[in-house]
Amino acid sequence: VKSHICTFGRKQSPSHIRSRLEEIAKRLRSYFGVPRRKTKLPEPLDLLVATVLSQNTNDLNSHKAFLNLKKAYPNLSDIKKTHPRKVETLIKVGGIARRKSRVIIQIVREVEMKIGKFNRRALNKINRDELIDKLCSMKGVGYKTASCVLLFSLGDNDAFPVDTHVHRILNRIGVVSEKAPDKTFLTVRTHIPPGSGYELHINLIKFGREICTARNPRCYGCRLFDICEWKGKGAQLSVAQKVKNRKKVDFVLLEKV
Ligand code: SF4
Repeated sequence: VKSHICTFGRKQSPSHIRSRLEEIAKRLRSYFGVPRRKTKLPEPLDLLVATVLSQNTNDLNSHKAFLNLKKAYPNLSDIKKTHPRKVETLIKVGGIARRKSRVIIQIVREVEMKIGKFNRRALNKINRDELIDKLCSMKGVGYKTASCVLLFSLGDNDAFPVDTHVHRILNRIGVVSEKAPDKTFLTVRTHIPPGSGYELHINLIKFGREICTARNPRCYGCRLFDICEWKGKGAQLSVAQKVKNRKKVDFVLLEKV
């Protein structure tokens, strides 16, 4: 099976990672511009639950599931006493509802026990690494979800969630050579150009959906072609040329919470 990303195991130097990330941020800005944040940031618990709902499903369906849940429970901390089946019914449209309903109820209970007040003011007083560790100690919460809370809800522009798109692209280009998104996160987290976590994350997601897709990436005309180390990029030139009228995908779920 041909790998969709680069050869693993090659350790990149911190200066290589930093300079590549800066270059990628600059070039993606020329594709997509600088994404604007909403003026009102989502509440941390809303964002946490929405991120869990987004796991292994598409953004539109998980957004519907989130809206159903919010309609029934405007204050999501109220679901801690709810029967999982009720939550399961509300989020069914998002898929894997049985497991997610239990995970969400458990998380809502645990944030109170492990972190206490789960509002922006209280969370901003906790050291970032400590907060990530506390969030990741909960079942169903990993580095990506924890970083999403920091980035989208706390407005921390140094946070940098690594999902499958971000992982795939950074490995194809050769910024890092890691096997899993969590490993990529741990390798790049301290090398993100200061204050550009939001811009880089959003633009990489758009790039991964529209251009550097998992299958048949549009290497032809890609503005990162010359710095990309992916061995398959040459073979993709003829394939990518045939891809026309690709639908622009600009719905980023966590921007809508
Ligand atoms: S050249 Fe192809 S594989 Fe490399 S970043 Fe561009 S689209 Fe992705």
